[in-house]
Amino acid sequence: MAKVKNVEAFCSFCNGVRKMELTGEVASDENKRWAKCKKCKQTMIINIAEDVVSQKVSLEGIENGNCTTYSPVKSYSVGETIFHENWNDFGKVVAKEVLSNGQKSISVEFQNSGNKKLIESYIKPIDQEEQSEVI
Ligand SMILES: [Zn+2]
Repeated sequence: MAKVKNVEAFCSFCNGVRKMELTGEVASDENKRWAKCKKCKQTMIINIAEDVVSQKVSLEGIENGNCTTYSPVKSYSVGETIFHENWNDFGKVVAKEVLSNGQKSISVEFQNSGNKKLIESYIKPIDQEEQSEVI
């Protein structure tokens, strides 16, 4: 069996999909592993069958399907394919999260740009008159 050392999985400490290093097995459950988040450095038990994001998100041919043109005011679901006009790039939503300020964001795997975080359901702050474009 090939030893996978690094995976991408959802970190419940920093609330997002992160690169993690597998540090050990859990004797009682073959699907569970000790993993250390490379961002927040916390060690936790993850379920490799459920929590790990597939290393190869299939992005092949998504440009030929129905892609939603990205706009920060829209909201998206995991698995949805989007087109980012400014970057001329197609991607697939792989995760969603809520930032500390309450703003929602999506994590998107793009064909050219790789993994990017984008704002969704953007609500304009009402106390600021002129706000430059967010994305
Ligand atoms: Zn983390």
